[in-house]
Amino acid sequence: MVLNWAGFQGAVSYTFDDSNSSQIANYDALNALDVPFTFYLQTGKSESSNPVWQRALRDGHEIGNHTKSHSSNDNGADTDAATQFIKSTFGITPYTMAAPNGSSVYANIARTRFLINRGVANNLIGPNDSTDPFNLPSYIPPANASTSVMDQQVTSARSGGRWRTFCIHGFTGGSDGAYQAIPLRAFLDHVQHTKDLGDVWIDSVVNVGAYWRGQKVLSSVTPTTSGSDRTWRWTLPANFPPGKYLRVRVGGGTLKQNGVPLPWDTHGYYEVALDAGSLTLSP
Ligand SMILES: [Zn+2]
Repeated sequence: MVLNWAGFQGAVSYTFDDSNSSQIANYDALNALDVPFTFYLQTGKSESSNPVWQRALRDGHEIGNHTKSHSSNDNGADTDAATQFIKSTFGITPYTMAAPNGSSVYANIARTRFLINRGVANNLIGPNDSTDPFNLPSYIPPANASTSVMDQQVTSARSGGRWRTFCIHGFTGGSDGAYQAIPLRAFLDHVQHTKDLGDVWIDSVVNVGAYWRGQKVLSSVTPTTSGSDRTWRWTLPANFPPGKYLRVRVGGGTLKQNGVPLPWDTHGYYEVALDAGSLTLSP
């Protein structure tokens, strides 16, 4: 009954690693696309203190953890140092991280600290599938990637009803040598193409990730029956962000949370609050 990807055909998240200068220099053009991005800050770099990130938060983008020192090895301390920086600098809790160099040590570090850890091996992510949230796949465009090369990655996600994340380090012409830099124009045109499809959910990793993991939780619950009511009860995973919702559709009856009937959205679904921890369907 949960709508995959909030009712869209597929989902895409664009993530930016390493706090690179070309992300900062081109922030206005990126923000003008009017879609939420995820910026994974490497907090040991001076660029992470740039005021642009505070603006990015206000503009609705996600700030995530890419550790302080970008080491392939960590016992957790370097990850926690970045979380501390993000909390004290921006006053927010980071819910997702990206593993430096895709290093596998971060899967276990993230498991006790985050909702999601983004890795670097490309794959599609499906509703209710067994993809590891602590080594989430991601597509890294080749250096100088064209618009159409990136478009193809979205086309396959959309046609397969899946979620694709992109891992981008920066744009050509930056002062600090982003890994596999891509032309800004190609990226802007690509995101515009994705928007123009009209049925692809473009959102941050925390937003799509909470939906994906929340759907898995609700889908795994067997409802209990009391009279003619059926009730689903669940417990959210650790480090789950508050205030997240699932869109559900039912064949009839009344859905309630905390005893209050849910309003029917004219788009054709109910919005279920994951924080409530239960949902009751009455005929
Ligand atoms: Zn990195």
